[in-house]
Amino acid sequence: MALIVKKFGGSSVATTEKIMNIAKRVLGEKQKDDQIVMVVSAMGKTTDDLISLARGIEKEPYQAKYQREMDMLLTTGEQVTIALLAMAFKTLGQPAISLTGPMAGMHTNSAHTKGRITDITPERVHQELDKGQIVVVAGFQGMDDRGDMVTLGRGGSDTSAVALAGALKADSCEIFTDVDGVYSADPRMVPGARKMKEITYDEMLEMARLGAGVMQPRSVEMGKAFGIPIHVRSTFTTQTGTMIREDYTMEDKDFVVRGVAHDDKVAKIAVLGVSNTPGVAHKIFSSLASANIDVDMIVQSIRNIEKNVTDMVFTVSTDDLAQAKQVMDKVAEELEAIAVLVEEDVAKVSIVGAGMLGNPGTAARMFGALSKAGINIDIISTSEICISCLVKGSQLKEAVNSIHDEFFSGN
Ligand code: ASP
Ligand code: MG
Repeated sequence: MALIVKKFGGSSVATTEKIMNIAKRVLGEKQKDDQIVMVVSAMGKTTDDLISLARGIEKEPYQAKYQREMDMLLTTGEQVTIALLAMAFKTLGQPAISLTGPMAGMHTNSAHTKGRITDITPERVHQELDKGQIVVVAGFQGMDDRGDMVTLGRGGSDTSAVALAGALKADSCEIFTDVDGVYSADPRMVPGARKMKEITYDEMLEMARLGAGVMQPRSVEMGKAFGIPIHVRSTFTTQTGTMIREDYTMEDKDFVVRGVAHDDKVAKIAVLGVSNTPGVAHKIFSSLASANIDVDMIVQSIRNIEKNVTDMVFTVSTDDLAQAKQVMDKVAEELEAIAVLVEEDVAKVSIVGAGMLGNPGTAARMFGALSKAGINIDIISTSEICISCLVKGSQLKEAVNSIHDEFFSGN
């Protein structure tokens, strides 16, 4: 007997026909004693549509004062899917029950629209499984201590699935999606991208964090924390996809770079002409942190040595841009900065690979590929297993392809 968590994303459950097909497929593959938990997303583009609906009322619905209501709105998407999928199983003679995130025991903090799971108490899920039911759980949602609905950030159903798999001590967690695995770059952008059989949690975490849309980064963190192997595979074929696990079991480890990730939902903010004295960086970034805004790349550059004046430049997600600009305008006034500038035509391209650690020269190869393509690098940031460059948004595709060519052609 195995306990398996299977997660199906929005494109996999976009229509009632697709929902029926999933129910049939899952039953077809189910061994007699298997216990199955399904975690599902909202149908198709439902979440985007709900956000557009909110924009009909308020142009910037992600501002702090609306976030609780956004969660109330967005959690409805997944609730539609769980009811329909549970019904689909029943029409096929399979007992099934739908549970919202809270009913499945998903507890979160109160960071509306970006919630984090704080605890999972899945007793109800176990009870229903023991009765022979397939349990269909709404992804992307949980409940805070006040009893309010909280969502886990875009793509959060992945995190729901992996976390629930951890809490249930599941034997495996399968993430079904519209691609058949994790690729060395986005195949829509790089036609020659290759599918990987395996990738480590650490590498996948970086890939996801740096923009590879396959999985929400936090879900990979959860997988690592609970030691749950994650199988990313296609909804539409039965092929093996990519296994995300602690270490490689078979594939050659010789690739210095495992993948090229990109992110075009990036904006650059420059706070010009602040004093180069202790406390200024703290003031800027603690204000952003209080507004729950993630800052990514940061550079501080000297503007005027004599006057000891500096520019603080950083990037944020375009989702947070409006709010970040508001916060910075206020801080700039307090710090008597010259100006706050925003640039939206920027994008980030990154290389990821655990093998990079012992391989000097990897950064130089990346910069060389960009320079050969005539692409200017605006900001560079590095960590142990990745290097990122901020480039012009309009040059992103070229940047990704030239870097991918550098590391993957001829291998
Ligand atoms: N429906 C949510 C979203 O579109 C959560 C998810 O699909 O994972 O972001
Ligand atoms: Mg997704």
